[in-house]
Amino acid sequence: MHKNAYLTIDDAPTEDLRERIDFLDSKGIKAIWFCQGDRLEEFPDEAVYAIEKGHVIGNHSYDHADFSKISLDEAREQIEKTDRIIDSAYARASASRQIKVFRFPFCNSGSENKCQKCDWNNDHVKGLQKILGETGYRQPRFEGIDYQWYRKAGFDKCLNVDYTYDSFDYCLAAGVELFGYRDLPTVLARIDEDVPEGGRGLNNPDSNEIIMMHAWIPIDAFKAIISKIMSKEIRFKLSVYT
Ligand SMILES: [Zn+2]
Repeated sequence: MHKNAYLTIDDAPTEDLRERIDFLDSKGIKAIWFCQGDRLEEFPDEAVYAIEKGHVIGNHSYDHADFSKISLDEAREQIEKTDRIIDSAYARASASRQIKVFRFPFCNSGSENKCQKCDWNNDHVKGLQKILGETGYRQPRFEGIDYQWYRKAGFDKCLNVDYTYDSFDYCLAAGVELFGYRDLPTVLARIDEDVPEGGRGLNNPDSNEIIMMHAWIPIDAFKAIISKIMSKEIRFKLSVYT
């Protein structure tokens, strides 16, 4: 009995995006790539390639601003400026943009120290959700996400996209260590942990997953993490629309 996973990859595009796309395609995986506007300006052809290959380009702000620290006007500018750049990438790929998806930098929903919560009592958070609604952003139809902690955090009701499994792949950056994750062996070992209501439920058949990775980690590590996840009873959903 397998379960399904949606793959989301942040801080894209990168110079070697094509190689990552080709690897995923060889495994039959399509991902949502949450792109920054400044990176899209630097690597426009890579984003067009992703679209041509059937992957989804999402909005991850213009320059990875911390939305808990900027004004609502600045937030709107970050979202809309990147939105226009994404539109032009889809136009260049002669593809229609079927869904607009957004992920907050640092996944903090715009409130400080609330990485694991969408704080609906916070006016700034509510203002950001309103902007996402007005600019056409919404949750894809993620099916079968049944973690209580996920619903309790309000992630199923907000317009941005959060995640159920954080790969902690950013701990592969030099000098970064969080909860003991500090290198490829420790990041790979996390995949085997069995704490479903603690965001480590890849062995748990009862809920599907939204997996978060990053586009800039070393490509060998990128492939190793994907391959390890695929060794579980997990299938990546090919599309967020079906
Ligand atoms: Zn990011």
